[in-house]
Amino acid sequence: MPAAPPSALYERLAREAFGAAPLEGGAEADVAVVGGGIAGLAAALALRRAGVATLLLEAATIGAGASGRNNGQVIPTLTRHDPEAVLKAMGEGRGERFLAMLQASADRLFDTIARYAIDCDAVRAGWIQPAHTPGRARLAARRAAQWAGRGAPAEYLDATAMAAHLGSAAYAGGWRHAGGGHVNPLAFTRGLARAAQQEGVRIHEHSRALRLVREADGWRVFTARGAVRCRKLVVVTAAYADSLWPGLARTVVPVDSYQLATEILPPGVAARILPGDEAASDTRYDLRYFHKDREGRLISGGALAIQAFARQRLPPVVRARLGAVFPELAGIDFPFFWGGRIAMTTDRLPRLHRTPDGLIGWTGCNGRGLALAMGMGEVMRDAVLGVADEQLALAPTKLAPIPLHGLVRRTARLALLHYRRRDRAEIPG
Ligand SMILES: Cc1cc2nc3c(=O)[nH]c(=O)nc-3n(C[C@H](O)[C@H](O)[C@H](O)COP(=O)(O)OP(=O)(O)OC[C@H]3O[C@@H](n4cnc5c(N)ncnc54)[C@H](O)[C@@H]3O)c2cc1C
Repeated sequence: MPAAPPSALYERLAREAFGAAPLEGGAEADVAVVGGGIAGLAAALALRRAGVATLLLEAATIGAGASGRNNGQVIPTLTRHDPEAVLKAMGEGRGERFLAMLQASADRLFDTIARYAIDCDAVRAGWIQPAHTPGRARLAARRAAQWAGRGAPAEYLDATAMAAHLGSAAYAGGWRHAGGGHVNPLAFTRGLARAAQQEGVRIHEHSRALRLVREADGWRVFTARGAVRCRKLVVVTAAYADSLWPGLARTVVPVDSYQLATEILPPGVAARILPGDEAASDTRYDLRYFHKDREGRLISGGALAIQAFARQRLPPVVRARLGAVFPELAGIDFPFFWGGRIAMTTDRLPRLHRTPDGLIGWTGCNGRGLALAMGMGEVMRDAVLGVADEQLALAPTKLAPIPLHGLVRRTARLALLHYRRRDRAEIPG
């Protein structure tokens, strides 16, 4: 499958720039981080702020992975698991720690933006989840109640209130998390790299980690033109994982997701759509999602069961979907098209890996990792600093490659057909 292009729109809008030289020759650090996305940078920043000498290697450029290509929605929740489901899956003690981390993850992100003056069009106007059927509206009410019960700024919106927030009466209700919002993710990731560098993290772009060698007191990481000796290693390569950490790439299914953006909308139209400037993603599995950029374009996206000719095939699909919600967009064009790769796990829960000899990694954002990556950066810092497994906010698990990974990988997108059927059916309750 051809690699999806990067985002020319985020590049055009970004006022944060970043550039770092490749690693040349030998270097030493307490910790080497592999992967220059939000999670790797958040881990590096947290480690450096804890006084740990940290060096980060990025194969391409900062934000080249999902971090610089995503929809920019800051959402401090998981896609599938509400708080009660998290507690059921993880147990009371661990579940509580994980939920506290997740709940604070958007604060971490917006606090970091404020602290380092990251210029990334950050808007903390809330995130809304419109419900596409009355049954999903009842589910949204329960979801909002669970989060509100934990002190999150969450509220149920009936159909009238949702219509006012959305600028469309197409939905049956939904809920709103006032702690969410949106950013230009490429600018944010670059700003995070600048912040990490400012704190003393050494960053090298165009420095793919090619080989790990275990040594008496740690590891040596080889790149094409250099090598780093370190005590511990944090590997955060997400859906872009290669064979560096054998087996890691096979613990997730990398799924391609595409993004589209309109031209600048006429002022009257832009003012009617999402008048409060929230980010929105609905209750479908094959979800509809959108927010406005600072100049008034609508940034949306979608997925395809078969990837061929995505650039030609997806725009009419997204146009029809948006037109059903906002009739004024019925004939709109999408001059911007890009895509990225999401790391999916089979149970839709994230994974933390930790080996006795000092290898640590996180993967499995399942499409909602912008805020979560900030929280997981601190969890990985804790793991590096020796916090016991039982006390971490996510239980470390053994690398468990997905059986028949090649086949699952090739056919995963076909599950979309099943999800679309489920989206069309009403749910009980
Ligand atoms: C199209 C799309 C839309 C999304 N929308 C949203 C959204 O609106 N909200 C949300 O919360 N989440 C969203 N997500 C998910 C979110 O983008 C990710 O969870 C998050 O960016 C993951 O960050 P990361 O640092 O873990 O991984 P990445 O950003 O993917 O970074 C991994 C990095 O590792 C590097 N790498 C790989 N191998 C090596 C190596 N051997 N040596 C050195 N470097 C290496 C890669 O080059 C890459 O830069 C979306 C994702 C996609 C793809």
